Amino acid sequence: MGPGTAPPARPAPQEEAPPPGQGATDSAGFEAWLRGFRQRAAGKGIAQPVLDAALGRAAYLPEVVAAASRQPEFTRSLEDNIALAASDARIKLGKRKLARHRGLFSRIERHFQVEREVVCAIWGHESTFGARRGDIEVVSALASLAYGGVRAGFFEGELVAALKIVQAGDVTLRKLRGSWAGAMGHTQFIPSSYLAHAVDFDGDGRRDIWGDDPTDALASTAAYLRDAGWRFGEPWGVEVDARGRQMDGRPAPDLPGAQLLQPLGDPGPRFLVFNNYRVLRRYNNAMAYAIGVGHLADRLAGGGPFVGPFPRDGQGLSLEDRKEIQRRLKRLGFDPGTIDGVIGDKTVAAIRAFQSERGLSADGVATRELLAALRRR
Ligand code: CA
Repeated sequence: MGPGTAPPARPAPQEEAPPPGQGATDSAGFEAWLRGFRQRAAGKGIAQPVLDAALGRAAYLPEVVAAASRQPEFTRSLEDNIALAASDARIKLGKRKLARHRGLFSRIERHFQVEREVVCAIWGHESTFGARRGDIEVVSALASLAYGGVRAGFFEGELVAALKIVQAGDVTLRKLRGSWAGAMGHTQFIPSSYLAHAVDFDGDGRRDIWGDDPTDALASTAAYLRDAGWRFGEPWGVEVDARGRQMDGRPAPDLPGAQLLQPLGDPGPRFLVFNNYRVLRRYNNAMAYAIGVGHLADRLAGGGPFVGPFPRDGQGLSLEDRKEIQRRLKRLGFDPGTIDGVIGDKTVAAIRAFQSERGLSADGVATRELLAALRRR
């Protein structure tokens, strides 16, 4: 299978929430839908005992349908996504994982011709190196999305694929778990991607991407990238200046299919991207994902941070300003979460607590005034 034919490993983003009245949610309706689905799945070769076992315990999960309309990668800013994707903590942990699984990564790199840092970066991004694989029952999640969500046809196809996985004996129903949209295991494969690309790399007869041992999952990820047209030895992209040179003055690689990206306009960072950038977008079709994962891989391989100017945010703060706010809050005993420059829930709560203590309006917004107040402490 070559580029252009591999299905995405992860579902594409929801463009919009379902219009009112379209998301049917009553359990009687769900049961009726399951009966209809059972017929269709049987017609696609799923055996009755598998249908009985899988659908007999399927439950409608409204929270999964709600989650389908918000994927953070598509609502956060590009800069926040990059800061999160290649945070200092994730780089440090990724280097530890590369060292700990050195032999496995070497075998995978040799066999699939995909750089170890790229596979490790996807692992880090998708599940924090296996720590967050998702604990939602895949059959229930996909059935809920196929019944009550938009893009029902896509999720019904994934549900059939999930049942094929169970039928093949690779995993038990009890272990068939994942995140909200049926993305499963260490690197969050959706069922159709699993069927097309997963491999049994440890040779025990099962393709296990769910268990604690990441061997099959990491090899399957490399297999996916290879199948999607990954080119060993080529960068995903490089950061370039206004003249098209790399930031250290070297000329950019002369590779076919080069494309200039200026995701934040001018002024803003510029990237010259190549074939492997487009392969990463097949894994998860978001620019921020491909740049974030590609950059994390570069950092794991010893590369430096981006140096181009990111525009200041709506409050006039740079990434460094936001990190300084977090550092100063932490020093004062508030908990802003990870020092990554991303103003998430924890940082907002810490800002509110600081503002309350100082008798300020506790709006939780990171502003220049807030930074100035923190510096006065
Ligand atoms: Ca195996």
